[in-house]
Amino acid sequence: MNLVMNEYKYAENLVNKENLSIEDIGTKPSRTLNILARYYREIGKDDDTIKRLLLDFLQRCLQDNYKESRWIDSVFRQVKYSRKYGLKRVDGIHITKSEIDTIQLVKGKRKQKVLFTLLVIAKYYNAVSESNNNWANTDCRKVFSLANVQMTTQDQGLMINELYRNDLINLSRNVGKPNIQVNFIDDKADVVLTITQLKDLGNEYLLYCGENYVHCERCGAVVRKSRNGKTRYCKNCSEVVNKEKTRERMSRIRKQNV
Ligand SMILES: [Zn+2]
Repeated sequence: MNLVMNEYKYAENLVNKENLSIEDIGTKPSRTLNILARYYREIGKDDDTIKRLLLDFLQRCLQDNYKESRWIDSVFRQVKYSRKYGLKRVDGIHITKSEIDTIQLVKGKRKQKVLFTLLVIAKYYNAVSESNNNWANTDCRKVFSLANVQMTTQDQGLMINELYRNDLINLSRNVGKPNIQVNFIDDKADVVLTITQLKDLGNEYLLYCGENYVHCERCGAVVRKSRNGKTRYCKNCSEVVNKEKTRERMSRIRKQNV
């Protein structure tokens, strides 16, 4: 599951959705449950009610495959954890001309994608917490996956080191808790790009640079355009959309035959 920028909106969408499916639980159920628990707490529900609402949500997502005993511990845990933090509400991360200029001075598209990703994440945490001070608070593997850059852990380390030697980032000294601070944030310069979702950030950068990418109309993922330029959906969504179309066609045919 990607980082959620506006957790309040995310929760509200789930709560108001009519037909829930297993997909709505997300790839990391504990996070989805945690956001929902914090949402219910924020709108004034007590522990027992939150617990009941979370179980209800799971039941609606899983339907026949739902077993309360399988989820009850996880739900209890998230109800407890939900007291810790409020919901994050970030609607857009503004990237400025001076920040883009710094990134574009760096040689190599992959390095630029990673730097851009670090910049967006650091600015996201700045928006969430006033005391963040430009730290990206995200482990390397996640950074590279958000950056749409595939390389070995060793090469990732080498690249991060190079960015550090070039004075673009700082590294924390805390052993076991990798953290990267971005050195070139300049909020005062003109805004040239606003990021509204924390996914495919590397491709988002390439799209900004004018390369052949496009937002999926269904989920917002940034995907490469096909040669004919007609790409509208990412691979996942195009499968879902095709299935929906087939289902509609079948039901129309069935109706005609009645
Ligand atoms: Zn999609």
